[in-house]
Amino acid sequence: MGRSRKKYKAEKCVACGARTNYSKQDPIDYRYGYVEGEGQFCFKCSYFVRNPVNKMSEKNLTTSIIVFGIVFTLFIIFLIFVMIL
Ligand SMILES: [Zn+2]
Repeated sequence: MGRSRKKYKAEKCVACGARTNYSKQDPIDYRYGYVEGEGQFCFKCSYFVRNPVNKMSEKNLTTSIIVFGIVFTLFIIFLIFVMIL
């Protein structure tokens, strides 16, 4: 029952995966680079990635490009099938 670990788990940067100076025990208000709903950013990323909304839209754009590529490939395969039959 008792979880008395001496080692504090360091929070990892949600953007680059680097270890931050903060542990999960640290209060959020005290932390630098913590974004609500996103997580803890390291010093570098919290400085350069100021706006998490931009990151989100970039991710969405990448996803839509991948989805478009898959759909387009399937369409080409379908066309080839139609031409053979
Ligand atoms: Zn980072």
